[in-house]
Amino acid sequence: MMLPNLDRIKEYSYEMGAIRPPSEGGSNSLLIRATRNCPWNRCGFCYGTPYARAKFELRSVEEVKADILSAKHISDEIEVITKKLGGIEWTVRVLDPSFLYDKEQQRLNKKERKNFQCVVNVFNWNYSGGKTVFLQDANSLIMRTPQLVEIVSYLKETFPSIERITSYARSKTLAKKSEEELKSLKEAGLTRVHVGLETGDDELLEYIKKGVTSEEQITGGKKSKEAGIELSVYVMPGLGGTKMSIQHAKNSARVLNEINPDFIRSRPYVPNPLTPLFNEIKKGEFKLLSPHECLKEIKIMVEDLDVTGKVCFDHAMNYWSSKSGGHLFSQNYEGYKFPEEKETVLDLIEEGLKIEESVHERVRVRVPL
Ligand code: SF4
Repeated sequence: MMLPNLDRIKEYSYEMGAIRPPSEGGSNSLLIRATRNCPWNRCGFCYGTPYARAKFELRSVEEVKADILSAKHISDEIEVITKKLGGIEWTVRVLDPSFLYDKEQQRLNKKERKNFQCVVNVFNWNYSGGKTVFLQDANSLIMRTPQLVEIVSYLKETFPSIERITSYARSKTLAKKSEEELKSLKEAGLTRVHVGLETGDDELLEYIKKGVTSEEQITGGKKSKEAGIELSVYVMPGLGGTKMSIQHAKNSARVLNEINPDFIRSRPYVPNPLTPLFNEIKKGEFKLLSPHECLKEIKIMVEDLDVTGKVCFDHAMNYWSSKSGGHLFSQNYEGYKFPEEKETVLDLIEEGLKIEESVHERVRVRVPL
C-alpha cells in the first residue's frame, strides 16, 4: 500500500455507545464512552431501550483514557494522510472500506466495522474543527467526580482544539453532587450537560417512574448553572396524555422558570412498543394527544415561560406542518431566543392550530397499536 498510515489507522479503535443528542451530531462531536448504558432503565416511555436495556457499567479511567488515545492516533494518521495527499477532499476518498480493507462496507467483520466507525467519527470531528466532544452514555455524571475530572482534563490535554465537552446527566445525580464537585468539573472543561427533564409535574414524574421530584430537578438544574455548566434540558410534550396535559404544561413551565436553562428542547412523546407506557396505551389507560391538543399543551407551557435561554424544536419528532408545507418550527439547534422570540413561537403555534389536523397527521411518526 502506498500510504503506510492507512495500515496504521486500522490498528486503532475505541468504544462507542448507541446514542448522542442530535445537537452533538450536528456539531460532529467526538464520541467518547465514559460509562455504559443507563443506570436507571425504568422510565415508562423509554425503559432504557436506546441501550437495549443492557446492564449499566462504569468504565475505568484507564480504559477511557486508552480510548481517547486511540482517537488521537487516528486523528494524527488522518493529518499525515491529508498532508501527503494534498487536501481533505482526497483523504475522504481513501478513508473508504475499499481502500482500508479491500472490501465493501457490508462485508466488513465486527472488528473492521468498529474501526471504520471510529475513523469516520474522528474524520468528521476533525473536518468540523475538532471542537466538541460528547461523553456517552446515559448518565456519566454518576462517575466519581475526581475520575470524571481526570477524563475531562485528559481530553483537553490530548486535544487542545476542544472548546466544548458535554454529557447526559440525570437531575437526581446533579442534585446529589456538591457545588464544589460541579465547579471542579467545569474547571476541568465540562461545558454542558444534557438533562431529560421530560416534565416538571410531580404526579406525572411518578407515573412515568422518572425517579426524581420536581424539587430535585430544580436543585440539580440550579446547581449546574451556578457552577457555570450550561444546561440543555429536554421536555416531552404529550407525555401526560389527555389526562395530565394541562398540569404537565403548567408545572413544566414552573420548573423551567425556576431553573432558567440555557436550552429547552422539545421532544414530543412518540409511543415505543417495548416500553411499559405503551401497554397503558393498549389498555386504554393512556390517551395520546392529537396534533392540535399537543400544540395547545405547548402553548400553555410557552405562555407561562419566563426564561432567558433558547427554546428549540430541533428534532423531526416536532412533526407539525407550516402553511407553506415545511416544518412549523425551525429545527435549528439554537432554536428561538426567549423572551425576544416568545411571540414568534406563539404565532407559529397559532399558525399550526389553523391548519387541518390531518395535515399534521400525515407527517407524524406513528407506531401501529
Ligand atoms: S434515565 Fe434516560 S435513558 Fe434511562 S430510562 Fe430514563 S429516559 Fe431512558
